[in-house]
Amino acid sequence: MKIIPVPCLSDNYAYLVVQDGRAAVVDPSEADPVLVAIEKAGVELVEIWLTHHHWDHVGGIEGLVDECRIEAVRGSAYDHKHSRIPHQTVALSDGETFEFGGAAVDIMEIPGHTLGAIAYVTEGNLFSGDTLFIAGCGRVFEGTMEMMSQSLAKLRDLPLTTQVWCGHEYTVNNLRFAKTVEPDNPDIDLALAEATSARAEGRHTVPGRMDRELGTNPFLRFDDPRIARGRDPVASFTAIRGAKDSF
Ligand SMILES: [Zn+2]
Repeated sequence: MKIIPVPCLSDNYAYLVVQDGRAAVVDPSEADPVLVAIEKAGVELVEIWLTHHHWDHVGGIEGLVDECRIEAVRGSAYDHKHSRIPHQTVALSDGETFEFGGAAVDIMEIPGHTLGAIAYVTEGNLFSGDTLFIAGCGRVFEGTMEMMSQSLAKLRDLPLTTQVWCGHEYTVNNLRFAKTVEPDNPDIDLALAEATSARAEGRHTVPGRMDRELGTNPFLRFDDPRIARGRDPVASFTAIRGAKDSF
């Protein structure tokens, strides 16, 4: 399995998941960059996987359905029920697994950013949409803080070597914020230095890795006693998320 990031719009990532010349695309914000990427990779685009219904994740579906022979448009059962994803053909729920080119793809429901948010996990790769970013998390638009913190706690139980492919290139700003939460955490300084030089050289900061996220991401560390400082986990998460909203 090969994963190819496809930058879209100003800071979104779509991803090609390639197996034996056939590809699925995760969260195509726009069709054109994805069409260029499949041409360049010499693969056939056959599936579209959506993590949630926001326009900057689903905007390319229409154009891809027009241009390619798409066999499945997958998204959550919640988004299907509310007809929020154009052309959706498959409604997925927590714990479901489907097969893509011989690989098992597991679905995790991770509500909070939206109520229909799901993650795709396959062969050690996590597509986390706007729920888990590298060193950050998405805003809580539709769910509750408790729901979002539980979704992130679910994701952090994935294996330490899990590669994190997220919906946006927000890493440098996220790490600057993380430093305000934990000024004395050397792992954050190291990650910030690496992310800053990666961006200066025009490289992506994806994929992240779960073990580093556990050491640097305040939204996975909200219940660490050094961060919670006596607050209950949800109160701690709420305080950090609130501070990030106005950072
Ligand atoms: Zn979103």
